[in-house]
Amino acid sequence: MTKHLMVAPALILCCVDYRYIQAIQAFVTSRFGIRRYNVKTDAGATKMLLIGHRAVRAWILQNLQLAYERQGVRRVFLFHHQDCLLYGGSQAFKSLQQEALTHTRHLVKATRLLRSQFQGLRVRAFYAYPARGTILFKAVT
Ligand SMILES: [Zn+2]
Repeated sequence: MTKHLMVAPALILCCVDYRYIQAIQAFVTSRFGIRRYNVKTDAGATKMLLIGHRAVRAWILQNLQLAYERQGVRRVFLFHHQDCLLYGGSQAFKSLQQEALTHTRHLVKATRLLRSQFQGLRVRAFYAYPARGTILFKAVT
């Protein structure tokens, strides 16, 4: 087998929330044609990577480092979602727009953090929300 056929997997970093995981995986496959990916789930997705205890942040980065170094992962997809329990749910915000804005800001920060930590890493971030009986995705980065 030639080396170029051994394409490295991507990595999805998303919340643990059962309402979104399958839709996120289906989205990555349908939108980007990617069928092989690691899935790293944390409550709140990237929230603890940004503001968690130092040991928690280090653990999350160690997971990514392993995928980067040992599997050659160079594409990461970050997902936050509406009504995330680690953010207090939608009721913690004045409006859905305010909620989406908070998640967008965190996704932008997390994208910058990962791009600065891992050379050549392609990072895309999306905000997921329910609409019209399905899950929709808004591109953030
Ligand atoms: Zn969540």
